[in-house]
Amino acid sequence: MDQIHPIVQRRNTAVTMIRCVALVLVFFAAFSVLYPVGRALQLGLSWNNIRAIWDWPAWLGLGLATLIPGIALIFLDSRIARWLVPTPRHACPRCEYDLNRSEASRCPECGYNLAV
Ligand SMILES: [Zn+2]
Repeated sequence: MDQIHPIVQRRNTAVTMIRCVALVLVFFAAFSVLYPVGRALQLGLSWNNIRAIWDWPAWLGLGLATLIPGIALIFLDSRIARWLVPTPRHACPRCEYDLNRSEASRCPECGYNLAV
């Protein structure tokens, strides 16, 4: 079995945490958009009710303000994780082989894919 390298492990942890934050943001956005609709259904569905309860700019603005970064986090999770847990430029992240003179996309010592 190939052992998971600490950097890969830390990136996976970072991705999980980023996705949790994204999930909270998306849930909050869904709530802030659906809450006024639910209240309007309780009071009797009419366009005037929805508009009165929605309090237009506040709820929709809050929903979009949390939905957009939430969705962005979902799509950019691995990039953010790579940014948060960088690979040391001078050494292979798996075997710490000195890569100063190597331009290859794989580590010449252990074959680790450096492009990941
Ligand atoms: Zn290596």
